[in-house]
Formats: sequence, C-alpha cells, structure tokens
Amino acid sequence: MTSKISRRAFLKGSFTGLGSVAVSGSVVRAASSLVKEKTEPLVTVIDISNCIGCEECVYACRESNLSKYPIPEKPFPKMFPKRVPVQDWSDKKDVTDRLTPYNWLFIQQARAVVNGEEQELTIPRRCMHCENPPCVKLCPWGAAKQESNGLSRIDADICLGGSKCKTVCPWDVPQRQTGVGLYLDILPALAGNGVMYKCDRCYQKLEKGENPACIEACPEDVQTIGPRSEMVEYAHALAKETRGYIYGERENGGTNTIYVSPVPFDQLILEMGKGKPPMEKVDNLMADGNNLARAMLLAPIAGVVAAFGKFYKRIKDDE
Ligand code: SF4
Ligand code: SF4
Ligand code: SF4
Repeated sequence: MTSKISRRAFLKGSFTGLGSVAVSGSVVRAASSLVKEKTEPLVTVIDISNCIGCEECVYACRESNLSKYPIPEKPFPKMFPKRVPVQDWSDKKDVTDRLTPYNWLFIQQARAVVNGEEQELTIPRRCMHCENPPCVKLCPWGAAKQESNGLSRIDADICLGGSKCKTVCPWDVPQRQTGVGLYLDILPALAGNGVMYKCDRCYQKLEKGENPACIEACPEDVQTIGPRSEMVEYAHALAKETRGYIYGERENGGTNTIYVSPVPFDQLILEMGKGKPPMEKVDNLMADGNNLARAMLLAPIAGVVAAFGKFYKRIKDDE
C-alpha cells in the first residue's frame, strides 16, 4: 500500500506548538535584519514530511518573479563552435515538473519503503544557496554573486550564458535560455549564448523585510526561514522529535537550505532526469585545491568584467 507521509503523523505533543511559535518570531527578526543590519546568513528548513505536493509554492514563485524571466530575441544568432547547444524554453513556459529558466522551483516526487510499507513523498527543489557557492566563486564573468545574507544570485545583465555555474553546481541547478542577454550585443557568435537562471531567494522581498513568495504561499508551513544558528538548532530538534534525517547542513561544505526527512536520504528513490537535482552526499567542492586556485585567479578578472558589463548596460539603458 502507498501512503503519503504527513508531519502531523510524526509530530504529536508539545514540540509542534512550541517550535512553531519560537520559529515564527525568528522569521520576522531575520527578514527585518536584512534591512537594518547584516547578521548571520538566512537558512531555510524544509520539512519534507509536511509537503502535500500542491505546487502553491511553485506558482507563487512564478508570479513573484515574472518580471525577471527572459524575453528572448529570435531568430537566435548562429553559434561558433556549433557544438554550443541552443536552449530555448520560451515556448515551454508552462513546464513545472523540473527546473527551467521559467521555473525556479519544482516539486520532486520520491518513494521509499518504511517499515515494509511503500511511502510517497513530495520535495520542493530549488537552488540550495551553498555557504561557499562554486557557481559564484568559479563564474569567469563575475555574474554570479553572494549577498551577505547567504543567498546567491545570477545577474542577468552580466551573465553570458557560458554555463560554468551549472557545470560546477553539485545539483545542476542553473538553467540557460538562449537569445537573451549581453552576448547578443558583444559576442553574438562566441559567448555561451544566453543567460543562466535560478532561484535568487526572492532577494527583492527579503530586502524589504518580507519572506520569499514560496514560503508565504505554502498552506502547510513546510518551509521555515531564520538566522543560521537558530535554524540549525530547529532542524536538529525537528529531526530528533520526528526521528528524521538531515540533508544540506554539511553537503558541499554546508548550504543555507536544510531538508528534514522522515526517511534516510540514501533510501529515497527520487524521480530523476534533466533539471531534477539529485540528493546524494556531496563533498566540499571549494575545498578542492584546483577549484580554490581557480577561484583566486578568477576573482580580480571577474570583478573587472562584471564592472564592464554593468557600465555597458547603463549606456544601453540611456540610449
Ligand atoms: S506549497 Fe507547501 S505543501 Fe504545497 S507543494 Fe509547496 S512546499 Fe509542498
Ligand atoms: S546549489 Fe548550485 S546554483 Fe545554488 S548556490 Fe550551490 S552551486 Fe550555486
Ligand atoms: S525563494 Fe523565491 S525565487 Fe526561490 S524558489 Fe522561493 S519563491 Fe522562487
């Protein structure tokens, strides 16, 4: 028999009430502190057992970030070398079952056998917002950046679509749209051909002291956001209470997204495919000597290129 795991089945008694009151307070403090002072990174705890797979979060993300989505120019310039693939999602904007340039959050289906019974789970997936993000450190153009609150985002005005961020992301998160961005003006046949897109943590809402759209929209309070130390403590308390398991606290050296699951992560059978991130153990990529050296070499060059990109965009906007 297949059944949906519900957090309510696991959380009985005082912890649920006490936990949610304490956490609501920290959410408000965390969001306001973005405006007033730079404190700890913001971490989201995602309680998988509470997700019912309704996709309210997915549609809230799309609505809230609509103005950031690509509007490509067609026909696309021919690329050199020809092996650089065209990636066009502009006619498939409705796709919600994977990550795309127009869908930065999706609900991944998973199965597991618990005590001999097959269970189904639904897992919200998006950028993990790594503490030391390879996509930021290894972007040759300085287009990806990390804010002091721990979120990482790609500047669509600077990105040339070369996909380095996707290549070095352990979860393959950033997604490219061809026919948009700076490459059309400066290197139409040579650059990566487009712009990379991913969850930017609703930075514009956080700056105003508001919570990300996906958190606001969820009817089951699956996600909880707050300062790192409080959220790590909360995730461990939740895992202890529910006899659950944690993913994200240490993966890739630590991320600002922590999943709590009622099933061990290595026993989850995830729906996989392109644009559907895995949930494996991930070593700290930026602890690798080669990546560290590359990041140190790239930092000054990326800074200059990013400044040029911003300058060029300003001139274009003034025209
Ligand atoms: S809105 Fe909440 S319950 Fe619905 S799919 Fe998203 S995380 Fe799950
Ligand atoms: S999950 Fe991938 S895209 Fe997100 S911050 Fe980490 S390396 Fe970057
Ligand atoms: S934080 Fe914002 S951009 Fe990221 S998945 Fe949630 S709604 Fe989308």
